[in-house]
Amino acid sequence: MSARRAIARVNLAAIERNCARLRAELEPSSELCVVVKADGYGHGAMWSARAALDAGATWLAVAGAHEAVELRRAGFGEVRLLVMGALSGVELREALHADADVVVWSEEMVHAVARIGGGRVHVKLDTGMGRLGTRDPEEAMRVVTLAAHAPEIELAGAMTHFATADDEDDPFFERQLEVFTGWAEQVKASHPGVVVHAANSAATLREPRSHFDMVRCGIAVYGMDPFGRDPLVRRLDPALELVSYLAEVKDCARGESAGYGRRFVAEHDTLLGVLPIGYGDGWRRALSSNGDVLIAGERRPIVGTVSMDNLTVELGEATAASAVRGLEAVLIGARGEQRITTEEVARRMGTINYEVTCALTGRVPRIYHRDGEPVAESASELRAPAAGAGR
Ligand SMILES: *Cc1c(COP(=O)(O)O)cnc(C)c1O
Repeated sequence: MSARRAIARVNLAAIERNCARLRAELEPSSELCVVVKADGYGHGAMWSARAALDAGATWLAVAGAHEAVELRRAGFGEVRLLVMGALSGVELREALHADADVVVWSEEMVHAVARIGGGRVHVKLDTGMGRLGTRDPEEAMRVVTLAAHAPEIELAGAMTHFATADDEDDPFFERQLEVFTGWAEQVKASHPGVVVHAANSAATLREPRSHFDMVRCGIAVYGMDPFGRDPLVRRLDPALELVSYLAEVKDCARGESAGYGRRFVAEHDTLLGVLPIGYGDGWRRALSSNGDVLIAGERRPIVGTVSMDNLTVELGEATAASAVRGLEAVLIGARGEQRITTEEVARRMGTINYEVTCALTGRVPRIYHRDGEPVAESASELRAPAAGAGR
């Protein structure tokens, strides 16, 4: 039973198993960089990072400078940390002061790093993502050369990012891989110490030729499937479970309604349950009359509008109110024969699993455990275990 209105239970042992699973895909010479941006895809960056490093990851990556600062502050003092995102002048300074690696793709950016006092840079070639990086391999080479020769600057990496790795039928992935491989070979020829990296989770799982010196995995670390299918098929172990409880149970006679807009009107006498979770917790309004929760191991449909703080499920007339009030309600997770995956919720919302867990707000406490053994009570009290946290 849930002790709060809604909690996310995060299994660190699952994160560890997923990291081991990903490591097993790699040659021993390739490193695993675990992406903990957006608070570890909603799982909590600190504990996720801790588990990942315990399970063989040697790098962490985030999107923004602030995320890097937070990790350093939490005790991850020594681990290699890559800030992958775009950085304003202020943020660049912040990231470098946090001793994070940053990404550059113009000579001007290298000069900006030098002006701040230097640091480690990864040069990014845009092979088709059309986002960050330069599309021009020659410019990328000039940036490599400049970074390699600028005092105070260490040319640490050469990278790209795939646009379609999660679509196994799309030939564009091969084209990107080909362009990048050619460029990376050139970089390596003159700078053999550079860490070459390209693969996200999908690329890591589908194509060993994309692994190079390091892979950058996020979604699969959390046990979600980068291809949007059932994670168990690829032996990934979903780390997050979202649970609430039946805070209120009430009869609903035929013709009576529930929720804003009266979008549910009972067609027959039935029993309704109210879960104290809503879009203010990240359980999106798009899930109104769209999806199930597990109560006592059975699927029960969400009926009517999801509101900010509550949603309603139909329990059915055969249920006795007194027997179910207070029972646990599982929104993401498995009970008995039944399983509601993040992928299922994403499909219903018309989005991807990434967005489902990222959407969970700060109002949902993250409770950590290892296969059921409690680890820490609350994310808000959390500071990553300091002892041994840095490496
Ligand atoms: C978020 C991100 C990743 C991780 O992608 P997953 O699909 O979650 O594995 C890797 N590289 C870059 C540049 C990213 O922004």
